[in-house]
Amino acid sequence: MVMTTPMTSNNAPRPHGQARYRTTAHGLQVVIPTRCPSGRHVLSTDGCRIYETGTILHVTCRSCAGQSIVDHTWSLTTHGRKALSAEFDDQPYHSLLRTAP
Ligand SMILES: [Zn+2]
Repeated sequence: MVMTTPMTSNNAPRPHGQARYRTTAHGLQVVIPTRCPSGRHVLSTDGCRIYETGTILHVTCRSCAGQSIVDHTWSLTTHGRKALSAEFDDQPYHSLLRTAP
């Protein structure tokens, strides 16, 4: 997945939680939930946009953003960790996904 540059935003959303990482043979890998924050869509490489602002990793659901759904972006704290790649997995985010609307 390609990291893209952020859109400019004046009101940064509060983080949903911490980004989860795995160490693989290829380096640090960030884990991303398979569903978007609104719970309406299954995220895929083409269906979302991943970017970082400071120590926050953002994952924007393209479908929600296109429909102007407010909760279209996961905001996860990275604590400065830099992942080389990303992978979808709900496993580390069960508590997060349960509280998603
Ligand atoms: Zn969505």
